[in-house]
Amino acid sequence: MEDDFEVERHQQYRTEIPPQSGRGFRVQKGECLRVIDPEGQQVADLWAFVVSSDGVDWLSTSQTRDITERMFPVPGKSFYSEQANQVLTLIEDNSPCPHDMLFPACNRGLYERAGFRSHPNCRDNLLGILSKAGISLPIVPDPVNLFQRSEPQPDGRLEVIASDNPPGGNVLLRADADLFVVITACSVDYHPTNGGCCTGIVVEHQ
Ligand SMILES: [Zn+2]
Repeated sequence: MEDDFEVERHQQYRTEIPPQSGRGFRVQKGECLRVIDPEGQQVADLWAFVVSSDGVDWLSTSQTRDITERMFPVPGKSFYSEQANQVLTLIEDNSPCPHDMLFPACNRGLYERAGFRSHPNCRDNLLGILSKAGISLPIVPDPVNLFQRSEPQPDGRLEVIASDNPPGGNVLLRADADLFVVITACSVDYHPTNGGCCTGIVVEHQ
C-alpha cells in the first residue's frame, strides 16, 4: 500500500497545449503546475477561478498589483482574487521575462484593428473552456500573461516587446485554493508579442 501511495503522490500529468488554443485544469490546494514554453518566445495566458456554492471568484491582476504593490510577480509572491483571497503563489521563475499583469487577453477587437477577421484569440479560447466547464462570470478577467515582456516607458508609453523567453523557460505555481485554472498559448502570430509565430505550451501538473 505504501508503494501505491508513493506512485500516486509522484504521478505527474503532462498536457501539451497546441498553438493558438487553451486547456482547463482542476487543481487542488497544495498542488503545483509547471508552465513550460518548449520552443521559446511564446506567451501563455493564465487565469484561475475559485468555484464554490457562493459563486465564482477569480484571480484579479488589479487586486494582485494592489496587494503585492508590484507590476510584475516575483518568486515567493502570490496572486490574489477579486475577493482579495490568495489563490496562487509563484514558487519558481525560470524565465527572464517580467510576466505581464497590465494587458488584457488578445481578443477579436485587437485582431480586427490589425486587419484580421475571425482570428483565433485567447479571450474566445478562455470563454469556450469556461462554457464547457459550466462556469459563467459577470466579466472576463484579465489574465497573467506569462513570458510576456511588456515594459512601461518613462514617457508613459506601454510597449509590448518580443518575448525573450528561451526554449524551456518555465514557471512553477502552487495552488493556494481548489482552483479551475485555464492556460492558453497566445494567438498573436505577428511581431512582436510571440516573436512573430505561435508555438505550443506544456503544463506539468504535480
Ligand atoms: Zn493571446
